Amino acid sequence: MPTAENERPMRIGEDFKVLLAADDIATRVRELGQAITRDYEGKELTLVAVLKGSFLFMADLARAIDLPLTCEFLGLSSYGSRRESSGIVKITQDLTQPVKGRHVLVVEDIIDTGLTISYLISNLRTRLPESVRIAALLYKPDNNKIPCKIDYLGFTIPNKFVVGYGLDLDGCYRNLPFIGVKSPDDAA
Ligand code: 5GP
Repeated sequence: MPTAENERPMRIGEDFKVLLAADDIATRVRELGQAITRDYEGKELTLVAVLKGSFLFMADLARAIDLPLTCEFLGLSSYGSRRESSGIVKITQDLTQPVKGRHVLVVEDIIDTGLTISYLISNLRTRLPESVRIAALLYKPDNNKIPCKIDYLGFTIPNKFVVGYGLDLDGCYRNLPFIGVKSPDDAA
């Protein structure tokens, strides 16, 4: 059961085992923000968040970066099953501004097989940005099919289906403040 103040025992969180506590997520996101601030000093940065799972990570990461930046959102839907990505991805909501000549930092919730991010990076490169890098909160190496360089990584996690802090199960639980696994873990 969650213990810290901001791990408040939300009723909807009662069936979940905490994998990453809210405080640990906040600390790591601040560290990523500091590294990004150092690396992009003096550059024109555009954050591109992948909806919907990245919305909380994007909100916290953007506030941890001490640089002028723009925020864009890309809606993607995967044709995979509920828990498995097929790599066939449809853009459901496109960027509102061109990224040509900009330094783009993709903000992704989780990289599992790598199929989604690899599609996304290829797509963004056709728009001629100055550079494209990846910030991912979570990485599940056990299931990875297409290796990609994650420039800013929050946590490496085991091959379990996680929810919370933006990540859903059938559209729910995105509002859990921690990242957890349904208990008992029926994803194992
Ligand atoms: P990939 O294409 O790398 O296999 O999967 C990326 C997408 O699959 C993520 O953006 C996310 O939407 C979904 N995904 C992969 N693993 C998980 C997980 O453990 N929990 C949730 N909620 N979504 C996941």
